[in-house]
Amino acid sequence: MTFKISYENPFRGLLKLALQAADALWALAEGKEPETDPKAINQDIYDFQRRIGPILNPSFTEEEVLAILASVGAVITGSHIVYTKGGHGSAYVDKDRLYPHPVQTTILCGAIAFAFKGHDVDAVIAPEKGGIILSQLIAAHLCDLENREVLAFYAEKKDGGGFVIKRGGADKIVSGKRILVAEDILNTGGSVLETVEAVRAIGGEVVGVGVLINRGGVTAEMIGDVPKLFTLASVKLDNWNEDECPLCRDGVPINTEVGKGADFLARQHGNGR
Ligand SMILES: [Zn+2]
Repeated sequence: MTFKISYENPFRGLLKLALQAADALWALAEGKEPETDPKAINQDIYDFQRRIGPILNPSFTEEEVLAILASVGAVITGSHIVYTKGGHGSAYVDKDRLYPHPVQTTILCGAIAFAFKGHDVDAVIAPEKGGIILSQLIAAHLCDLENREVLAFYAEKKDGGGFVIKRGGADKIVSGKRILVAEDILNTGGSVLETVEAVRAIGGEVVGVGVLINRGGVTAEMIGDVPKLFTLASVKLDNWNEDECPLCRDGVPINTEVGKGADFLARQHGNGR
C-alpha cells in the first residue's frame, strides 16, 4: 500500500485527486483512455480517507478504535483466554501487536493528537518502549495540525524504579514547557503517574494525558491529578477463576494463540482430564 498524497498538505493532495478524477471522467465520456487509471484514483481516495479521515473527524468512536485494534490482533474479543496470572476471560489486549502496523498506529496517534489540538502542547513525552513510538507519531501529527514544531521525548526506566527523561537535552528543554504525556494501555496507571512525576521533576507542565486504552478505570486524579485525561477506548476485562469460568462451563475452546491457553491445556492433559 502506498500513500501518494502529501500528508503535510492533505488538501492539496485532495485537489490533485479531484482534478485527476475529473480528467478521467471527461476522457471516459469522450470514449478515450483516461490518463490516470480510475481504479488507481479510487485507491488513492480510499488511502486518503484512511489516513486523513480520523484527523478531520474528531468523533472517532470507541467502536472504531477497537475495530482498528482488532484488525491487527491487538484486541481480541469473544474468545476464551487464559491470562498470565491464571484467570480466564473472553477478551485480550496486546499492545505489542499494534506497533508493527504503522498505518493503524499513526491513525490512532492522530486521534490522540486531535484531542490536544489547541492545548499549546510544546512536547509529547511517553514511557518506553511503546512510548518511543507514540511520542514521535503524536508529536508529528501535532506538528501538522498546528503548523509548528512540537517535540517528542520518551521516559526511560530508572534503576530502582520510576522514570527519567534525559535524552536529547530533555532535562533542559522541557523546563517551563507544556507537555502532553501519552501511553498505550492504562492498567493501574503506575507508569503514567511516574512519567508525569518525571516531567514535573524537570520543570515541565503536564497539560494532559492521552491514552489508547484505559483498562483499569484509571482517573485523572490517580495519575497525578492531570488537567485532562483523554482515552480512545475503555476495555473492561473479565477475570474469572478457572472454577467459576462460564466459558469453561459452556465448553468454549481455549485460545492457544495468546496468553497461557496452550500451557493450560497441556496441564489439563497432564492431569488426565
Ligand atoms: Zn475458562
